[in-house]
Amino acid sequence: MNLNHIKVNLEKIHQLIIEAENRYQRPPGSVELLAVSKQQTSQAIRAAFEAGQTSFGENYLQEALNKINELQELAIDWHFIGHIQTNKTKLIAQYFNWVHSIDREEIAIRLNTQRAHHLPSLNVLVEVNLDEEPNKSGLRSTNLLDVINRIQELPKLKLRGLMAIPAYKPNFADQRSSFRRLRKIFDDLRALGYPLDVLSMGMSQDFEAAIAEGSTLVRIGTAIFGERSARKGSSINL
Ligand SMILES: *Cc1c(COP(=O)(O)O)cnc(C)c1O
Repeated sequence: MNLNHIKVNLEKIHQLIIEAENRYQRPPGSVELLAVSKQQTSQAIRAAFEAGQTSFGENYLQEALNKINELQELAIDWHFIGHIQTNKTKLIAQYFNWVHSIDREEIAIRLNTQRAHHLPSLNVLVEVNLDEEPNKSGLRSTNLLDVINRIQELPKLKLRGLMAIPAYKPNFADQRSSFRRLRKIFDDLRALGYPLDVLSMGMSQDFEAAIAEGSTLVRIGTAIFGERSARKGSSINL
């Protein structure tokens, strides 16, 4: 398969990020790009790495472990961004540097216990269910402080920020208003003294709106790699 499109797409996205930073008065370089490589091949990840991309996000543990193993000679920063089942925490704590999807206290406690002593603390973000959609993972804002306070007590976790996947809205103003709500929670927590520095919001379809509202990390898959290969259950695991 021809993978030249990956380098071209990465250049295009970097350009769009720079333009959005300028347009919305964000400091140059304040928005980081995480390449979401779920359901993409190791070769595709290697092509992106060779084009200068070093951080990659994965959603499904077994699939991710296969690729981490195949690409172990590359200095990749792996981020776990998918829903976390309790029985998966051990391997996530072992193989990832970042977890974006902490949605309950139990997961934080397990990751802390299972993170090996010789590894640096795991960087974690708490996932917020912005639209309070009943079938979606992520914390309601009402439970957020309890989990965040708990994480602060766990030595092998480093609290970095918040993540959300708002319900998709085609309209730019509506996209902005969802992201603005997450930004408000982020700012409120910082005002209370929580040391948050990462606001993980924005995907292929809505990253410009996210940057306008203060995103510091956009998670982009299809706009870099193209469509994902079909995978059973992917829509419900998202
Ligand atoms: C799949 C996924 C993305 C990337 O989505 P695209 O629309 O392909 O850019 C970002 N974040 C999370 C949590 C995802 O599951």
